[in-house]
Amino acid sequence: MGGIPMPGRGGIGKMIRLLIVLLVASTLAAADGRIYYLLWFDTEDYIEPAADDAALRIATDLEKLGVRATFKVVGEKARVLEARGRADVIRALSQHDIGYHAENHSIPPSPAVYLQPLGLLEGAAEFQRREGRGVDDIRRIFGVTPSCYGQPGSSWGPQSNIALRRLGIPAYMDEGSQVGYLNQPFWFMGMLYVFNLGPYSMRADLNDPSKLPAAYKRFDDAVAELKAKGGGVIHTYYHPTEFVTTEFWDAVNFPHGRYRAPSDYQRPKLRTREAAEQAHRILVDFVTHVRQTPAVTIITARQLPQVFEDPNPAVDVPAIRKQLAESIDIRGAASAADQLLALLGFQRMYVDGPAERGVTTIRATAIHRDLFERGKADAVDYIERHHRLPSHVWFGDERLSLADFTATLAGDDGGATVAVRKGNLAFERYIAAGAKRSFNWAIHPEDFDGSALLEMGRLQAWTLKPARLK
Ligand SMILES: [Zn+2]
Repeated sequence: MGGIPMPGRGGIGKMIRLLIVLLVASTLAAADGRIYYLLWFDTEDYIEPAADDAALRIATDLEKLGVRATFKVVGEKARVLEARGRADVIRALSQHDIGYHAENHSIPPSPAVYLQPLGLLEGAAEFQRREGRGVDDIRRIFGVTPSCYGQPGSSWGPQSNIALRRLGIPAYMDEGSQVGYLNQPFWFMGMLYVFNLGPYSMRADLNDPSKLPAAYKRFDDAVAELKAKGGGVIHTYYHPTEFVTTEFWDAVNFPHGRYRAPSDYQRPKLRTREAAEQAHRILVDFVTHVRQTPAVTIITARQLPQVFEDPNPAVDVPAIRKQLAESIDIRGAASAADQLLALLGFQRMYVDGPAERGVTTIRATAIHRDLFERGKADAVDYIERHHRLPSHVWFGDERLSLADFTATLAGDDGGATVAVRKGNLAFERYIAAGAKRSFNWAIHPEDFDGSALLEMGRLQAWTLKPARLK
């Protein structure tokens, strides 16, 4: 035995009591509401060289503050930094976290435009083909796999999520309105989404220092609100190019998806030196305020998976059966897919939503037990084979849509026949209704219609659920 005295009976009792006190204290601290703050920069302008210096300045200023941000870098931007010999910028950004912001951002066609006519799997392969090259370049130039992805402008498409998983990118961090969950992070298609945070996405106006106190107050109010709810996430985003220009580099060169050859690129209008200096000062002041706020922890996208609970909780089948027959919805931390999978005997497993909207052809009001079990076994086999929910389930020559199958399965009382029920897909309300507004962006063609992408989003919303802080 070594020199450590063994505690006596009383000692063990004391230790256990102390442990309990510590456990309770840590639980209370979690319930007290920790606020996680993410600061990210879409590092995209490969036309205006002053944007390189802006990125360097931001990275250096933040490093001095002891704050790590996430720089979501465009593939072409990474290559241009290398070609211009900006090892200083690459080194400074590498002190922070590196995410990904598409291969070339705005050269047509942008992701939503080329994904819109494609199905789920074809679109995933196309996104990987077009955008994968930039991920390789980020790895080569920055030495890391990007921690997250965010679309250029509002150019979102559900298929990208499958490709991003294949590319080893686990988080989606951006702003947009296509999908969202109560203004806080969520899981969608197996990706951790920091997206559509509404009032918890905030910026200080870079043009007017007199508006800083109002920005501090907005931040403080958001912190107080989230603390009262038990904790949450706030984010702020900028583009390094914003600090040195007065117009967007891509709106100047690719308005409404017009192509422009690199030899004809036009540089955006620049801020005055004073206005640029002021913008950098406002950022430092705002971030200093955030850093000094109690209970706020500044994290990068790379740390996101560590602060959230396991996305695949066990589902209590008896508890959800009746609810699911009435309405197919997110319940607690469980997506609609989690609940259906649990009814089919799968637990703690992720699969994608259906590739298409299936239709019900069965006219009968009930299905014979033997035929129902056969269809159910076939659904299980499909899920195991494809890691995706089927669009419909066959019963002889007739079929049930996935929604009707789920309600029918949930309502199965074990009798000689199973009553056919109509499924009510309540979770689809979390996908935006208006395609025009959701995909509004100066680079999309004026008549661009992203309705098909929203419809695919509704199908994939089977996988949607809140991301819960640990
Ligand atoms: Zn961008």
